[in-house]
Amino acid sequence: MSSCLFCDVVNGKLPCDEMYSDENLLAFRDISPQAPTHILLIPRAHIGSLAELKEAHAALAGEMILRATEIAADEGLAAAGYRFVINCGNDGGQTVGHLHLHILGGRSLGWPPG
Ligand code: AMP
Ligand code: ZN
Repeated sequence: MSSCLFCDVVNGKLPCDEMYSDENLLAFRDISPQAPTHILLIPRAHIGSLAELKEAHAALAGEMILRATEIAADEGLAAAGYRFVINCGNDGGQTVGHLHLHILGGRSLGWPPG
């Protein structure tokens, strides 16, 4: 069985700075924050990337977006704004092969991305 960094976080083998948890999702602070607020929201189930999402994941994908907006609001980001990022594959800049949504805020974020 191949190892997965974020499955290890879900299983508690790897510690994380957890800040939200429910039956399907887990959120924790990014170990290398790129903004004053940088949180990762992941499904507990292993899904490798956006490219692996199936119709059966539609509710889970919707939950991720909704929970992320609640987390952003809880972090006090709603008024000033924030950004969600999901990198996919090599060109997308994905470095961890377990689907994760970045919640970034607390500063003005540049556009376009690099
Ligand atoms: P991506 O480049 O979109 O795959 O994002 C992976 C993110 O995971 C990066 O922002 C890393 O800083 C972050 N990361 C890697 N290992 C850990 C860890 N053990 N705990 C928290 N964040 C991590
Ligand atoms: Zn995984």
